[in-house]
Amino acid sequence: MKNEFVTSLKHLLQTPKQCVIFPHKNPDGDALGSTLALYHFLRAKGHDAVIISPNEYPKFLQWMPGQENILLFNREQSRCLDLIQKAEVIFTLDFNALSRISPINDFLVDHKATFVMIDHHQSPENYAPLTYSDANIGSTCEMVYSVLHTWDASIIDTAIAECLYTGIMTDSGSFRFPSTSSTTHRIVADLIDRGVAHAKIHQNIFDSARFERLQLLGRTLQHLKTVNPLPAVYTYLRQNDLDAFDYQKGDTEGFVNYGLSLEGIQLAVILIENTQEQIIKMSFRSKGSFDVNQFARKYFSGGGHKNAAGGKSDESIENTIVKLEKAIRDCTQDFE
Ligand code: 5GP
Ligand code: MN
Repeated sequence: MKNEFVTSLKHLLQTPKQCVIFPHKNPDGDALGSTLALYHFLRAKGHDAVIISPNEYPKFLQWMPGQENILLFNREQSRCLDLIQKAEVIFTLDFNALSRISPINDFLVDHKATFVMIDHHQSPENYAPLTYSDANIGSTCEMVYSVLHTWDASIIDTAIAECLYTGIMTDSGSFRFPSTSSTTHRIVADLIDRGVAHAKIHQNIFDSARFERLQLLGRTLQHLKTVNPLPAVYTYLRQNDLDAFDYQKGDTEGFVNYGLSLEGIQLAVILIENTQEQIIKMSFRSKGSFDVNQFARKYFSGGGHKNAAGGKSDESIENTIVKLEKAIRDCTQDFE
């Protein structure tokens, strides 16, 4: 699968091409790491590449090599549309449904470019003739590493290695989720050999919080509720909690995981109110057999992976909590 994919990709990019690379909306470390690594690689190979993100990304990622060149669709729409129109090759990384770059997907209908997908979520759409999709791999960065390494390993410099390391580390929960394999560790070893300053990257991402963020975490932990007698917990943040602690994008990243640090707990959920978009954004995390991808798809218009997924609700926090408790109880048989 991978070798065939690389052969097709090399063939497609035999001559210099105008490439547009998309990460998903609200890009995380894996989305930015994979798009930036590919961006550096394509430029080194003589292609004209740009990254267009649907919107902003958190401050703790605003050090990544090359991130200053990322264009934000919500900020510079006409410039981005011009580049999208001229694109000959469109890469979609770390997502597999075009609605994940909304509203950009509205401008891709009948686009003549060749679409390429590299992604590790389940149930890919079939918009990309060149698709490398594998839900068993822990991160898109790991997949991009394999593609670039097979194509031309000599191009992987320290900047590319740092981008890839970031996504592998963040999507694997610092190398502890079950999808972390011996291959993951071999890749990471090679990236360190290529000059990655791993302790610095860890500090940039995990030790750069503002005082208010920790206070917001405190509020989140105070709101934690159990769904007795099931091994499930949930918590929530209202818009006024976010406002009280000067919420900035990315502040709630990782909060959902604290529920899973409780002994015996298999499912943790966080609900975050967004009055501007009039939705409750939800994150689901699980351990073991409880499949939050299925759960998020079935009850909260979302999806993701077996042990990490997201979704949303259009109802109030109160009603969403009632719906959530009922949904969890409906799934009693899915816990171990
Ligand atoms: P998070 O909870 O960190 O936002 O997302 C966890 C995982 O679920 C990520 O892999 C993310 O791509 C996926 N995800 C988050 N929200 C959604 C959503 O609304 N729809 C789908 N299909 N996937 C989501
Ligand atoms: Mn990912």
